[in-house]
Amino acid sequence: MHSRVDDPFFLEKRKDVVISRSVPVVSYRLGLTGICDVVEFVLSEQGSILSGRQGRYLPRIVEYKHGEKDPRQSNELQLCAQAMCLEEMLSVKIESGFLFYGKIRRRSEVFFTDELRDTVQKYSEEMHAYFKRGYTPKVKPTKACRSCSLVDICLPGLGKKALAASKYIRTEIDSE
Ligand code: SF4
Repeated sequence: MHSRVDDPFFLEKRKDVVISRSVPVVSYRLGLTGICDVVEFVLSEQGSILSGRQGRYLPRIVEYKHGEKDPRQSNELQLCAQAMCLEEMLSVKIESGFLFYGKIRRRSEVFFTDELRDTVQKYSEEMHAYFKRGYTPKVKPTKACRSCSLVDICLPGLGKKALAASKYIRTEIDSE
């Protein structure tokens, strides 16, 4: 499913929509960066000017997910964070985006409510506060980790192992 999605040079145009894949996004206000799977730029008066194109275009993000809807809202928050990045980059307002679930092969529209935006802001601030303190929160590995693109840097299984290593060192010191 991700083969075309992950091609950063893939660009196509269908009617009034320019489709771009693997779009890097950033928000200096939130201190976040990311990559959107797909951004469909739709011709709209409320949109932004795109380099080398006539008219104005409003971005519509489509994020691809292998599984089903996550009850913890993590997919919605990721999508909303991406939208907030694009809003800052292009000076536009994005009302909603889409999650495409591979298992049910359907798009689900997500509206970027004030509540969702506030949660993104809150988590961003929390993350930066942790980083400043040099604190890594403990995470419980779940089956979602297997398909998570951050697994190599997040190392969710390390918490347990690090604890086991420190216990080993403590035991060794105590036995001397
Ligand atoms: S690898 Fe880390 S960021 Fe990814 S789902 Fe697991 S705990 Fe979350």
